[in-house]
Amino acid sequence: MKNSMVINVHAGHNPDGKTACGAVGFLRESTEARRVKDEVISQLRQLGHTVYDCTCENGTSQADVLKKIVAACNAHRADLDISIHFNSGAKDSAGNGRTTGTEAYVFDKGGKAAEYAEKICRDISSAGFRNRGVKENKSLYFLKNTSAPAVLVECCFVDDRDDAQCYDYLKMAGAIVYGITGKECTDAGKHDTKDESLAGTPSGTGRQLSRVQVGAYFVPENAARLRDRLRAAGFTDAIVVKA
Ligand SMILES: [Zn+2]
Repeated sequence: MKNSMVINVHAGHNPDGKTACGAVGFLRESTEARRVKDEVISQLRQLGHTVYDCTCENGTSQADVLKKIVAACNAHRADLDISIHFNSGAKDSAGNGRTTGTEAYVFDKGGKAAEYAEKICRDISSAGFRNRGVKENKSLYFLKNTSAPAVLVECCFVDDRDDAQCYDYLKMAGAIVYGITGKECTDAGKHDTKDESLAGTPSGTGRQLSRVQVGAYFVPENAARLRDRLRAAGFTDAIVVKA
C-alpha cells in the first residue's frame, strides 16, 4: 500500500425518507451507511489520505443515484473506490444468536480490489460478524463503471437482530479503515460532536459508571499487549474488555 492514497468513499442509496433509499429493518441502511461513511472518511483523512465523498443525496431514482455516484468517483484519478451498504434478506427478527454477517463485492476476484475486499471482510468479521466472503459481480453498475479498483461493502444485515446488536458504527468504520490501510486511527469518532451515544448520560438514578480507557484495538493481541504494559507499569487491575 502507498503511504498516501486517493480514495473515493460513498454511502449507498439516497438518504432515508427520499425515493430510492436503502433497506430498513432493525437498522436503516441509508442512515447507517452515512454514519459509517462519515467516520471512514474522517479516519482515512486523519491517517493522511486524500478522500473524496462521492455520496449522492438528491437522486431522482435509483439509476440516477448510481449515475451521480459513479460520475463523482470518475471525476478524478483515485487508487480505490469504496461503496458502503448494508444487506437485507436475513429475516432473523427473533435473533438466533448468530449474525448473518458481512460480505463484499468486486468486479474481478483476481484484481487489486479483491485484496482490499478480503482484508475489509476479515476485519469486520473480527468485530464479531460472520465472514460471508468476497464475491465477484460483473453486473453491479458501480463496480462495472468506476475506473479505479472498486469494493462494495455490505457491512452487515439490517434485518437480523444479532447483526443489529453486534453493530456499532465506530467499530464498523474502524474495521473498514483497518482493512484498507492496515492502520488504526487513534482519534476515532472525532468528527461527530453530536453523537448521542457519547452525549447521553443516564438520568434519574444518580449513579453512573465511569470508565478510564487507554486504548481500543481490533487485533486482540494488541489489546493484550497494552494490558501487559499497564500491569508492568503498576496498574495491576488492568483488564481487556470486549465491547
Ligand atoms: Zn444497499
